[in-house]
Amino acid sequence: MKLLRVIANLGYGSRRDVAALFRDGLVTDKAGAVLDEDTRIAPAEVLIDGEPLDPAQGLILMLHKPTGYTCSTKDAGRLVYDLLPPRFRYRDPLLSPVGRLDRDTSGLLLFTDDGGLLHRIISPKATIPKCYEATLAQDLRGDEAALFGSGGLMLESEKTPLLPAQMTTLEPRRARLVLHEGRYHQVRRMFAAVGNHVVALHRVSVGGLGLGELAPGQWRALDAADLDRVF
Ligand code: URA
Repeated sequence: MKLLRVIANLGYGSRRDVAALFRDGLVTDKAGAVLDEDTRIAPAEVLIDGEPLDPAQGLILMLHKPTGYTCSTKDAGRLVYDLLPPRFRYRDPLLSPVGRLDRDTSGLLLFTDDGGLLHRIISPKATIPKCYEATLAQDLRGDEAALFGSGGLMLESEKTPLLPAQMTTLEPRRARLVLHEGRYHQVRRMFAAVGNHVVALHRVSVGGLGLGELAPGQWRALDAADLDRVF
């Protein structure tokens, strides 16, 4: 396939937009030679404005999601996609969030276009630990860790009890909670079930992968070593 089409299919823009990148000399090989739109070359050898081309499939990113952004492709308010380069919204297959976070939750959010990987992380059988820090409206009672850890807690409108979750008290009104499943608004509903209210929620890690130095609103592509940390 001609390079112009390869790049357009990756969501970098319409053919016209991509033709302009060629005209501006922004499409080069790794040695810095300016490429022509008809070139047939392995995509892994191509740079756009000095940056490697996104892989055609198997793209995985993590975003430090700030509060106030929705994990949706079309919603009236601000979307997590607004924090990513526009091309990521137009890729085919779509780049989707892996295990959504509520609009008012911050922290580590993964995205991928790899359906198999998505399933491995969020299917009901996946038990990858997800660690959250919750700030609460009221002091902890003291029995929450035992209750959440027992695995018998039944949330309203659920058909099966929750899996055991590990809670650590950080401060009288702050707790760390490690879940091995992902039900709708799970952390907020767990604390509501013990008469408390979550006023702030942050996802710290997924598996062994944390945010590291990534500031709120920033993203980066994951490599194989990062992915190993997830599983
Ligand atoms: N639990 C919640 O209640 N909200 C989230 O965003 C994630 C886990």
